[in-house]
Parts: sequence; C-alpha cells; structure tokens
Amino acid sequence: MLKIENLHVSVAGKEILKGLSLELQPGQVHAVMGPNGAGKSTLGNVLAGREGYEVTAGTVTFEGGDLLALEPEERAATGVFLAFQYPVEIPGVNNTYFLRTALNAQRKARGEAELDSMQFLKLVRDKLAVLHLKDELLHRGVNEGFSGGEKKRNEIFQLALLEPKLAILDETDSGLDIDALKAVADGVNALRSQNRAFLVITHYQRLLDYIKPDVVHVLADGRIVETGGPELALELEAHGYAWVKDRIAPES
Ligand code: ADP
Ligand code: MG
Ligand code: MG
Repeated sequence: MLKIENLHVSVAGKEILKGLSLELQPGQVHAVMGPNGAGKSTLGNVLAGREGYEVTAGTVTFEGGDLLALEPEERAATGVFLAFQYPVEIPGVNNTYFLRTALNAQRKARGEAELDSMQFLKLVRDKLAVLHLKDELLHRGVNEGFSGGEKKRNEIFQLALLEPKLAILDETDSGLDIDALKAVADGVNALRSQNRAFLVITHYQRLLDYIKPDVVHVLADGRIVETGGPELALELEAHGYAWVKDRIAPES
C-alpha cells in the first residue's frame, strides 16, 4: 500500500530525513517511535504534503502511484489522512458544519455526490455508534475550548467520517493526558480494518499499551534504524533511546 524508499527531506536547508525506507501493507498498524528531533513529525508532514518540506531524493509510492506528485487535497482524496491536520480552534464555526464541509470537499475531489444534511446526519449517527461517542462535541465551535481528550476524540471522529485508506497519526512529543491517549487508542482500535492501514507516530511507548502494532520502527537521525514486532517498543521502554543510538552504524 505504502512504500517509502530512500527518502531524503530537508527543512529550511537542513537535511532531516536521510534515506528513510518503510513499507506498509493494508490492514497493518505500524508504529514509528524515536527520540525528540529524529524527524518523526517531518515524516508525517511530508507524507501529507505540508509546505516547507523539500524532498531531495527518494520515492513514496501509495497504491502504485507517486504520492509526492500529488497536492495535499489530492492526497486526501486518494485516501491519505494526516490526523490532527486541523487542530486549530475555529470559534463560532459549528463543528458539524465544518466536518460536513471537509467530507463533501473530499467527496467532490473523488467525483462522488455531496451528502445533504439528512444523509450526513445519518452518517454521523453511524460513526458515533461505532466509536461509542456522544454527539456533544458536534454542537460546539470547532475545537472551541476542547480539552486535550476532546480534541483527540474529535480528530478520531473526523478520521471515521473521512474513511481514509492510510491514516497517519502524529502524537507529537507534548505529553497527552491518559484521557487523550485512550481516545486515540480506542478510535484506532475501532477503525482497524483489512483495507485500512495506520502509521502511528509516537515518542512514547505507553500509547502502544493500548494500540497493539503489527510492526514497530525506530526512527533515529533521519532513518529507520530498527524494525521489529511489538516487543521492540518494550525493549525501547526498558533501555531508552540511548540504546538505539548506540546501535546506529558508525558510517551513518
Ligand atoms: P520529531 O517529531 O521526531 O521530534 P521533527 O520532525 O519535528 O522531529 O524535527 C526534526 C528536526 O527538524 C529537528 O531538529 C527540528 O528542529 C527540525 N525542524 C523541524 N521543522 C522545522 C522547521 N520548520 N524549520 C527548521 N527546522 C525544523
Ligand atoms: Mg519533536
Ligand atoms: Mg514530532
């Protein structure tokens, strides 16, 4: 589904990703872990097509096509979702309206008919049920006064509505409270399916107590330096990232 080969990315003239390769199949959940500044968010941002990231070498293939050739909206339409894409507060803009606009923009880009309010409300009810969520966040302004956990729930709800094939979640390095962490994990677990893959980017092992990844990658100094099963996350937890740094080949 996703194949990243020898990806080199610079930000503001500085090389951040230095030959990153990673392959992911439909239905899988991959975790990318790594120390602060390793380039984890850079990876998520470059896959989503955010501005300011210069790809200097390498390829990213998504379902056989060149992902890097697509505009961000086209990437979304083709089924790539970077969670926490819209973490901003938009006071006064009703969240339901916002979500429907986002969904219809995606449907339009895919050549699908837009949903009217009745159809959208039915879809909302279905997705709320799948995620065991209440509708209280829908009647407020977008992220307006949301707690960390509420923001995450809203983002997961957005993910459920947009039904991406590949969902990339960047947990950032600012510690999420346990409430927010569980919201993310419950959402990922509820939305796991044979046709959908997740790339879960996290600094912390504790998220993986709730989401059991199929594959764990360690990103350090702009490259994947280790790939393994869930036990790799536990090893990292036990030994810390210094253990990984010690294992990076000197020629790198
Ligand atoms: P991580 O998410 O693993 O903590 P990032 O991808 O955020 O790492 O950052 C990797 C490196 O790139 C860091 O050294 C960071 O300072 C640098 N970096 C990221 N974004 C920018 C930017 N917009 N301008 C300059 N440097 C950046
Ligand atoms: Mg960081
Ligand atoms: Mg980060």
